[in-house]
Amino acid sequence: MSDKFDVIVIGAGPAGYVAAIRAAQLGLKTACVDAFVGKDGKQALGGTCLNVGCIPSKALLDSSKQFFNLSHNLPAHGISVENAKVDMGTFIGRKDKIVKQFTGGIGQLFKANKVTAFFGKGKLLKDNNVEITGNDGSKQTISATNVILASGSVPIELPFAKFDGKNIIDNAGALDINEVPKRLGVIGAGVIGLELGSVWNRLGSQVTILEALPDFLSVADADVAKIAAKEFAKQGLTIKLGAKLTKAEVKKNEVALTYEDKDGAHELTVDKLLVAVGRRAYTDGLLAGDTGVKVDERGRIVVDEHNHTGVDGVWAIGDAVRGPMLAHKGSEEGVAVAEWIAGKAGHVNLDTVPWVIYTEPEIAWAGKTEKELKDAGIPYKIGTFPFAAIGRAVAMNEAIGQVKVIAHAETDRLLGVHMVGPGVSELIAEAVVAMEFKGSAEDLARIVHAHPTLSEAVHEAALSVDKRAIHKGN
Ligand code: FAD
Ligand code: AMP
Repeated sequence: MSDKFDVIVIGAGPAGYVAAIRAAQLGLKTACVDAFVGKDGKQALGGTCLNVGCIPSKALLDSSKQFFNLSHNLPAHGISVENAKVDMGTFIGRKDKIVKQFTGGIGQLFKANKVTAFFGKGKLLKDNNVEITGNDGSKQTISATNVILASGSVPIELPFAKFDGKNIIDNAGALDINEVPKRLGVIGAGVIGLELGSVWNRLGSQVTILEALPDFLSVADADVAKIAAKEFAKQGLTIKLGAKLTKAEVKKNEVALTYEDKDGAHELTVDKLLVAVGRRAYTDGLLAGDTGVKVDERGRIVVDEHNHTGVDGVWAIGDAVRGPMLAHKGSEEGVAVAEWIAGKAGHVNLDTVPWVIYTEPEIAWAGKTEKELKDAGIPYKIGTFPFAAIGRAVAMNEAIGQVKVIAHAETDRLLGVHMVGPGVSELIAEAVVAMEFKGSAEDLARIVHAHPTLSEAVHEAALSVDKRAIHKGN
């Protein structure tokens, strides 16, 4: 086999593996280099998302939701279960099995599409050569006309709360706790902190989340954040805002925390501390000094709107570049870059990338928040509809939250759709399609929605933009 490829992808996360498969589909001779080592010590394709991110977190969220529902939802249906308990071996083992199924699946997809997988750390050298260093230290060099950098991201470490894998943990650690901690501290009320904090809260941990910013979930629309905060409090999650962690000391299997808020310094002792203060683009050891590829002040690889680095034949995608750190954003960039390389017209619209937070209630949005529109001086109108008036949601005993549709005040074009409530991770897809097709609130309002379904909340919220919702006062 020749070591010259049309395309080499470095990184097999959702950005890289999708780019490799699409490039191979387009007839390009493709290799993908990845260094991730699975729990069994073998190569595990799929990156952060499949191994220690999206998939395992959803597995644990779903298991913990089933357990939580036993005491918090089923009694309302007249169903009671005595002495429910969780077998932690099965709980974590189920997650591991799902991870293995999907990481193994990528290997099979590579074989089916004739993508050559290399196991090791890839380094871009000059002239599109890639040096691969295996775990045993062995080195080989392969080359390609095009190299796609998809090296992803890693958790940000706080210098005064360094990960030890036991008491102070990152996302990977929080997905592998074998015993429910009595007290879990979480630093950062972002997507990861809220999701993983929810998992352990539902199993009985006393979870305290410290968030340095004064506003809760400021990336989301303020109305959505307000509703979610109220529900999280009801579930027993303690979220302290404007609370900045300044010190964490491990003492006899406990972690003594010091945090500061407007009232001064406070102490808190927990059994485990999850630090979820964000992720940084990972480019350690990725680039030889003379490649010409630039990184910005936040360590992200600099690319143009076509994900090109400005160096002939070198592209970058996913968490390693600007834009939201979301799996589907990286995957779409991967497809687009493969198509651009093959001389086709790729397309990624960062303005309609959906965001989802898989808490209970779920949170999902696409497009602009009300604040962003206000700040930009764009005139808008709003329609909302509560799940409390949706028959299906009430039947499910999950009638929490609302859908909010924001449209341009003059053109009626959809500018943002914000949801908090049951099943909104799925409902958001309709809004994304409508926005991608440059639809209006009127378009959503005229589409027939099945009854009784949760999607009627989207329909009614769109109607409510022009004050003609049927099942509420306007
Ligand atoms: P990654 O998935 O990070 O993959 C990069 C890969 O490249 C890794 O395997 C890494 O080992 C490898 N690599 C890096 N450098 C080299 C090198 N030099 N040589 C060889 N290999 C290298 N996103 C969502 O959209 N939905 C979710 O529900 C969601 N949940 C999440 C939950 C958690 C707990 C976390 C941590 C993240 C979650 N994310 C979610 C974010 C998502 O995981 C990332 O956006 C996504 O994985 C980014 O994909 P990527 O391919 O750019 O990078
Ligand atoms: P995200 O980037 O969405 O994962 O969110 C991470 C959150 O962690 C952000 O909202 C930060 O404000 C928060 N954060 C960062 N450093 C600290 C700290 N020292 N104490 C508390 N919260 C922090």
